[in-house]
Amino acid sequence: MSEAQTALVIGAGIVGVNVGLVLQQQGFDVTIVDRNEPGMGTSFGNAGGLAVTECAPISMPGTLLKVPGWLMDPYGPLTLRWSYLPRMVPWLLRFAAAGRKHRVEQIASELVAILDRVWDDYTPLIRDAGLADAVFREGALAVYRSTQSRRASDYNIDLRRRNGVRVTDVTREQIAEMEPGLAPIFACGVVEEDWGRVLDPYKIVLGFEKLFRERGGIYQKAEIVDFIWRDGKPRAAVARGGDQIVFDKLVVACGAWSKNLAGKLGSPVPLDTERGYNTTVPYHGATLNRTVISADDSIVLTPMEMGIRVGGAVELGGLTAAPNYKRARALFAKGQQVLPALSDQGGTDWMGFRPSMPDSKPVISTSPLHDNVAFAFGHGHLGLTMGATTGQLVAALISGNPAPIDMTPYRIDRF
Ligand SMILES: Cc1cc2nc3c(=O)[nH]c(=O)nc-3n(C[C@H](O)[C@H](O)[C@H](O)COP(=O)(O)OP(=O)(O)OC[C@H]3O[C@@H](n4cnc5c(N)ncnc54)[C@H](O)[C@@H]3O)c2cc1C
Repeated sequence: MSEAQTALVIGAGIVGVNVGLVLQQQGFDVTIVDRNEPGMGTSFGNAGGLAVTECAPISMPGTLLKVPGWLMDPYGPLTLRWSYLPRMVPWLLRFAAAGRKHRVEQIASELVAILDRVWDDYTPLIRDAGLADAVFREGALAVYRSTQSRRASDYNIDLRRRNGVRVTDVTREQIAEMEPGLAPIFACGVVEEDWGRVLDPYKIVLGFEKLFRERGGIYQKAEIVDFIWRDGKPRAAVARGGDQIVFDKLVVACGAWSKNLAGKLGSPVPLDTERGYNTTVPYHGATLNRTVISADDSIVLTPMEMGIRVGGAVELGGLTAAPNYKRARALFAKGQQVLPALSDQGGTDWMGFRPSMPDSKPVISTSPLHDNVAFAFGHGHLGLTMGATTGQLVAALISGNPAPIDMTPYRIDRF
């Protein structure tokens, strides 16, 4: 580039800051805007998993048959805000279609194409941001209360193994050795060898955002509400209040809130949200050496800097309904069965909006209409995991360089 082009990234979550960092490396003058301070969206309070082993989509063969039972169970992994159901029907139909076996096989391989790159893409950034002490590549332990429930995961685990994911079976005795703090209620488990964990996902965003600014990037607080077109192309973003930010290239990385802006740019997209809850409690003597997934309870327990985070599950209810922290309480009660030393003294509840596409794949795509616009959202349960790789892929698309993988599966107009 003879003269640096400007790039505007909307959204300062884990995806937006990664996109900003890589665009900077490509020579763009980058501004990231967010209506809040960086990292205060869904990236703030997630489970901190670099879940490179999770290539199985959320919609799997048999998932729909389980839904009625889940909905009847107040402690179950899925809840629905019934008033939101009519608005969610088109998403749910696509979700159901994505769960057919041949689609699941295809989606898994398309997720693996991204997940396989995660450690290589994150490692240099983590080092440059001075975050090496805040990230561990130590594996996660998934535990099952019975051999029957382990067998119920056979297809899921086989799918992952066939896609090159290292999953190792462990016995009751090995679980006790690895995690002596767990209740002795688990019959068997698996170790997901390449899973990683961060000490605090919020601090990861802050560390990357600081690096971005140290390298000359600009963060600006503004809510983008519209765009201005010149010569048939979007050329400026309009902030609430009327300010305009001119750009050569634009990336929409607003997580669960991306649908509206994508629509304004001419790309309607079936993005919705899977709301998730957790509670983080100080250690108070409880011990946990690594991330533990209790498969029968659909909860994840993560040892973090500030304590142990217990949560997971999915609530379908859109972006505006108030949180129902009874969900977090229910998940925490399950967590206490798994790790009996957990005390809820001093705990903090949180809810986040997973940005979810019905087929569990992110949108990492140029606009079919405007060659100066790209989209990076819809990472669902895997936004922290896929952040750095999304940055690399978007930067390739925006710069017109060849992407390292086939980008067709992640196109915004795939539905
Ligand atoms: C309970 C739970 C557990 C999870 N655990 C994991 C995990 O272990 N591993 C994993 O990989 N993922 C996990 N996830 C998913 C992960 O947190 C998300 O996929 C990820 O945070 C999405 O990042 P993002 O940058 O796309 O969105 P966000 O972090 O939500 O950032 C989007 C930003 O866009 C801004 N924005 C929105 N609209 C506008 C606008 N109009 N103008 C300006 N700014 C705007 C928002 O303020 C926000 O800061 C979990 C999610 C939940 C809820």
